[in-house]
Amino acid sequence: MNSCDICKKGALRKIALNGFSVLKCRTCSFGRLEILPDVESANKIYGTEYFDEKSEPDHLKDSKKKYLFVKNYLEGNNTILDFGCGTGNFLLAAKADGHYIYGHDISQHAAQVASKRLNANVTSGPVSEETFNEGQFDCITCFDVIEHLPDYRDKIRLFQRWLKPEGLLFITTPNINSWDAAVLGKRWYGFKKYPEHVVYFSPKSMMELLKSEGFDIQKIKVWGFVRSFKYIVEHLFQHGWMRKILMRTIDKLGLDLAELYLPMVDMLVVAKKH
Ligand SMILES: [Zn+2]
Repeated sequence: MNSCDICKKGALRKIALNGFSVLKCRTCSFGRLEILPDVESANKIYGTEYFDEKSEPDHLKDSKKKYLFVKNYLEGNNTILDFGCGTGNFLLAAKADGHYIYGHDISQHAAQVASKRLNANVTSGPVSEETFNEGQFDCITCFDVIEHLPDYRDKIRLFQRWLKPEGLLFITTPNINSWDAAVLGKRWYGFKKYPEHVVYFSPKSMMELLKSEGFDIQKIKVWGFVRSFKYIVEHLFQHGWMRKILMRTIDKLGLDLAELYLPMVDMLVVAKKH
């Protein structure tokens, strides 16, 4: 593999990480695992435990924030598919606003939980062209999913097919060219979990992919996440005295429920079908 999957040009730079390597394009910055898992083994890691953490209050707030952003682009009642809906946090917010909601997740467990919570039809497992109808949706959302997909381009093609003309696609994914990625280098969160994240986009490579599959880019912006102080300290300071001091300070100041929005890691892309 000597050329980039996205721009077809570019020399590739090898980033050696803990036990695996990422190849990053010098032209468009698209990155991928040097050894891509096949789709089946990539899907195996999404068991029940994977989704337990995602129903925590922090994640609910993230989803609410995403919905409030998406809402700016919607008029009236829309038919929305959340692809990779997990246990349905985003769709819960969309449903409360009167939209017609559909969910899909690779995990049967997550889809069952979402289905109950939403009282809606949530499908699971592999998808094909026939999973939904051509032109069925006004809007498809795909949050924090594409970086997990070895067959990401096939999924973008399906989204294109399932959207109505001028339908909107919203994607969030880690930005391999973000400031936090530059500062943290090999310790960047995006790289951390093997083989969870298999591809890594920059704004440039994401735009190039979407344009080549029949989308116009409407917006691309930094996207962050909402987390409690405690969560942030626990994840930034895994060991040691610093963590103890900070945790004690948080308790003392009564900040254990306080939250922070961190404008880092992810980018959000809005694209419109031609
Ligand atoms: Zn490239």
